Amino acid sequence: MTANHKGVTLVGTPCQIIAAAKIEHYPETLGESPVDFKLGLFCMENFSHSYLKEFLKQNEIEMGDVDQFRVEKGHFWAYLKNGDVFKTPLSKAKACMRKNCQVCVDYTSELADLSVGSVGSAPGWSTLIARTEKGLQALQNAENKGYIETKPLEQSGLKLLENLANKKKKENKGEIRKRESVARPVIYRRYMSDAEFETEVASCQFDDLKSDVIDIGGCVLCGACYYACPENIISIEDRKPQLRGNCPSECNLCYVACPRTYVSQEILSRDLDQKALGDYLKIVSARATNVEGQDGGVATALLNYILDENVTEEVVVVDKSEQNPWKPEAVLTSDTEEVKKAAGTKYSACPVFKVLKDNDNKEKEVS
Ligand SMILES: Cc1cc2nc3c(=O)[nH]c(=O)nc-3n(C[C@H](O)[C@H](O)[C@H](O)COP(=O)(O)OP(=O)(O)OC[C@H]3O[C@@H](n4cnc5c(N)ncnc54)[C@H](O)[C@@H]3O)c2cc1C
Ligand code: SF4
Ligand code: SF4
Repeated sequence: MTANHKGVTLVGTPCQIIAAAKIEHYPETLGESPVDFKLGLFCMENFSHSYLKEFLKQNEIEMGDVDQFRVEKGHFWAYLKNGDVFKTPLSKAKACMRKNCQVCVDYTSELADLSVGSVGSAPGWSTLIARTEKGLQALQNAENKGYIETKPLEQSGLKLLENLANKKKKENKGEIRKRESVARPVIYRRYMSDAEFETEVASCQFDDLKSDVIDIGGCVLCGACYYACPENIISIEDRKPQLRGNCPSECNLCYVACPRTYVSQEILSRDLDQKALGDYLKIVSARATNVEGQDGGVATALLNYILDENVTEEVVVVDKSEQNPWKPEAVLTSDTEEVKKAAGTKYSACPVFKVLKDNDNKEKEVS
């Protein structure tokens, strides 16, 4: 397949970052990856937008009334535009959690260039992890050019972050074992080499993706299958990928790209299981100097730096839908004003790869 967009930064949850790493790993099969920089978010869970809407309605709150959502200190918070605050124990809100999140063992976007989250840092600050040389350079340059300021992460903050990351790994590995024992395999956790991967996926098509991932509550709704399909016959309807045509024989690209089919050890190393936060070069507390965001505004400030300094030409951010409040909507942009507008966490899944494919298709139509 061809991808016309070169030089994109993708901001996303750990599962979306795994999809980006997978696409990057197989250029000969999937084409050169459009994603050149991966800005990962920390993530404990994601909520189904429709269940969340219903849940809030039962508490007489409309999505449009909400100014900001937060998940912290064991509670789910909705800060309303009229100044009221709705708070409920996280255990109650977990009824709205997407089932795929229960088998996710990555809390801090371990495959990203830079990862950012709130846990570990004081209010108004973010915890920022540089994992690659590229990420470290971006962190240092963004600081030197005044986009962010940093300070050492306190030991107590690091401990808290490691404890939460380990808790997610431990609890969700338990869920994986449970699902495996009732014939709901979680295949992305099976360790294999690239050669074994190629053999396993050789004859797998969308029907297999449906039975191995989508129908058993494994889909993270990243849109990588939609992105990879050379025939454009996958659509995303009712928050699920659906097949709207016939797969040509020999094509297995959606199955290759999906972060919840097999993932080779060359991408997701077995060692990562033993490390609470994955591999990293530097970890700090950081905050933006002149933009606001969910926590320290660091994701937005870094994206502004990335665009201003042409680290990549474009970024994919997740904004709120105008028509359907708080429904996340991915936007591909080179405009820092759009990036600022998209600041803030939307606690629902969004097929971020779809916007890359839609733009490719639009460009092909024009040319
Ligand atoms: C579903 C979800 C769960 C999270 N859970 C945790 C957690 O358990 N612990 C923790 O410390 N942090 C968590 N975070 C991260 C946290 O909420 C902040 O996004 C992070 O601290 C960055 O804050 P900031 O002020 O630097 O970002 P901002 O400057 O506000 O920028 C946030 C960026 O995130 C992007 N974004 C927003 N929603 C989504 C989405 N649904 N999918 C992809 N990108 C999105 C926006 O495009 C924006 O660019 C979670 C984020 C998400 C999306
Ligand atoms: S699977 Fe769920 S918990 Fe894991 S990164 Fe994706 S949204 Fe977050
Ligand atoms: S089935 Fe498609 S949307 Fe779902 S996780 Fe796999 S690639 Fe992503």
